[in-house]
Amino acid sequence: MKKNYQILLAKWVITVNPEFEILSDYAVIIEDSRIHSLLPAAEISELDFYHQAEIFDLPDHAIMPGFVNSHTHASMSLFRGLGDDLPLMDWLNHHIWPAESRWVNTEFIRDGFELAAAEMIRSGTTCMNDMYFYPDIVGHRAQEIGLRVVVGLIVLDFPTVWAKDADDYLHKALAVVDEIKSSPLVTAAFAPHAPYSVSDQPLEKIAMYSSELDLPVHMHIHETAFEVSEAEKNTGMRPLQRLDQLNLLNPNLLAVHMTELNEFEIERIAEAGVHVSHCPESNLKLASGLCPVARLQVQGINVCLGTDGAASNNDLDMLSEMRTAALLSKGLSGDARSCNAQQAIQMATINGAKALGLSDEIGSIEVGKQADLIALDLNALNTQPVYDPVTQIVYAANSRQVSHAWIAGSCQLADFQLCNLDEDKIRHKAQAWRNKIKPFDQEPS
Ligand SMILES: [Zn+2]
Repeated sequence: MKKNYQILLAKWVITVNPEFEILSDYAVIIEDSRIHSLLPAAEISELDFYHQAEIFDLPDHAIMPGFVNSHTHASMSLFRGLGDDLPLMDWLNHHIWPAESRWVNTEFIRDGFELAAAEMIRSGTTCMNDMYFYPDIVGHRAQEIGLRVVVGLIVLDFPTVWAKDADDYLHKALAVVDEIKSSPLVTAAFAPHAPYSVSDQPLEKIAMYSSELDLPVHMHIHETAFEVSEAEKNTGMRPLQRLDQLNLLNPNLLAVHMTELNEFEIERIAEAGVHVSHCPESNLKLASGLCPVARLQVQGINVCLGTDGAASNNDLDMLSEMRTAALLSKGLSGDARSCNAQQAIQMATINGAKALGLSDEIGSIEVGKQADLIALDLNALNTQPVYDPVTQIVYAANSRQVSHAWIAGSCQLADFQLCNLDEDKIRHKAQAWRNKIKPFDQEPS
């Protein structure tokens, strides 16, 4: 079969390989879905397929691996702005959960997912780790769109539109694992919502299935001090201690938030190989607490970045998440060296890939890996002049500078335009949901 070649000529290539090499005036060559080679720009005309390749000339751009958003609830984008300026449990109990039980159906999931997918691709995210209802629909639509997604096999104790009890959630989870086997862009993770919303029995089963199937477990853990103190009151244990007894502390666990951690717990998760998804903007907005990133990194814990859902962030912008993480870590640790620009980029790319078990395929620009790449145009005034493209991206660039995105070699964003999604149609649907969820005539005048 005829191969498809693309040659991306860029001013800088930020590889995020183990040496964190930055190449100047280089070409990334894509063969079908994978990275074929990296060559100095001056040498590309020697390639025997040079004349049949599509060439992207990116003279003011940095190419880097696409962002891996390690924690989100994509379809919740339709609830963006519905309950702002509230603490977590008030927000969940009085706004989000009632809205979910009233509005979430298959159409909501599809429309919300498309809104999130468009925003993410537009801002440089090429892989997301999702946790929400109807993972079957999300997986199917992700494959059609061409976005890489880890679908979350949600588990809760209480009935929702997706399942009626813990057994039903698990039964459906295993069916989804079977369904997505043939989708190259879609993988799955068990997604028990949180220690306070899932009881021991289903968690024991999840630990067993995760080990048998070698699938990640994606869970909100120690999100607030209130969660930890309530657990101590109700179970006599801190949530992490309970999860440890249930055999969940291992390298398959991706623990989201982790704002409340004592020294013993940090040592224990380091020893167990648990990954941490840090969602600084959601934590700040809900005043949930602050994840001690610098202390975790000192212990060698793999920390990656997530936006959380748009209902608590309120955007899905990994560039802004990266900057917030870097600044917050410096402020919290009192050390300006903490979470430097290189570490921030690793957290937003390769570390997320590691946490999701995908680092052999994505997260860095290395020959043989999937071509999940983005280009940022650094010619904008706010990123001039460029002394160092890495610090410029973390501390000065914004997501409107993401000009191109490729996922598995397929161009999804070209010259700032989405290739496979209709922005107007998505906007129109989002507005229709807004009018349905909160009709204008119900608003106070
Ligand atoms: Zn979340």
